[in-house]
Amino acid sequence: MKVGLVTYTPEKVEGFDLHVYYSKWADGQVFPAAKGMQNDVTVFCDAKAIREDPNIVAVSNSGPALRRNRKANLAFDFVCPTNPEYRAKVLDYIESLSKQNIMGVTLNLYHFPDEEFCVCPRCVELWKQSGLNWTQWRAQTITKFVQEAKARVKQTFAVEIYPDPVLAKERFGLDLNAIAEFVDYFHVPLSSRDYLTMYWVDMLARDFVASLKKPVVLELSAEMPTDEKIDALLKTVAYVSRHKLDAVLLLVHDSENAKQICRFAVQNSDFREWLEKYKFEEMSRIVDDWAKIY
Ligand SMILES: [Zn+2]
Repeated sequence: MKVGLVTYTPEKVEGFDLHVYYSKWADGQVFPAAKGMQNDVTVFCDAKAIREDPNIVAVSNSGPALRRNRKANLAFDFVCPTNPEYRAKVLDYIESLSKQNIMGVTLNLYHFPDEEFCVCPRCVELWKQSGLNWTQWRAQTITKFVQEAKARVKQTFAVEIYPDPVLAKERFGLDLNAIAEFVDYFHVPLSSRDYLTMYWVDMLARDFVASLKKPVVLELSAEMPTDEKIDALLKTVAYVSRHKLDAVLLLVHDSENAKQICRFAVQNSDFREWLEKYKFEEMSRIVDDWAKIY
């Protein structure tokens, strides 16, 4: 199992095999390609683009796909996924990244906001023309976008997924079997403020390894302020390392945050004895590797 980082800064950290860099954010900020890294592109969540042209927002009968619309319970503001000008803009950006010396591109938030979106006149017209039912049409729309993005990327191509193994297709238009054809791996974020309670991480890791038809990379949050929380995070990584994951990624603020996690693991003899005692061989190897550096 590889261990990697998800970061907001384009700096590699020793002791990690895979670096994912947020090159386009949900607030609309766009950054130059991070060389040698997997560049993560937030696709249809773009608060800045919606501020500049409110007409591009996805809509439902309960209002627009905006955080301030409390009927929708959304974490981000979503652009309508069939808006041709916006799609072209994002695809051009993906192509520009691919022309750089990067490891690859990961798509993030490239789906519908939820089941009741989008009922703008263009989407309703496209749906009627398709002859498909609502779920099928929305899934086909998203799969086609993934296919178009994939055609512009020569390097490793991956997608993040909303971590719902049951209703992803009905709610977001994510047909994970169809999307699997186009991706090298699935990146599954299981974000949390802490992993003091972690059975759900283990459960979802198993579900996705068993159900997805491509390798699975799991992301856990590592911006932990206390020793107790870092300890719980590292034990969670140890437990999930027993499943057939391609990698575990740690979401950090910056490189210092990542080194802090490594040093905590290396210097914590109780934790290392616990790994030995319960035979977490893969995690022991990772911490032994960190001990050569930190
Ligand atoms: Zn629409």
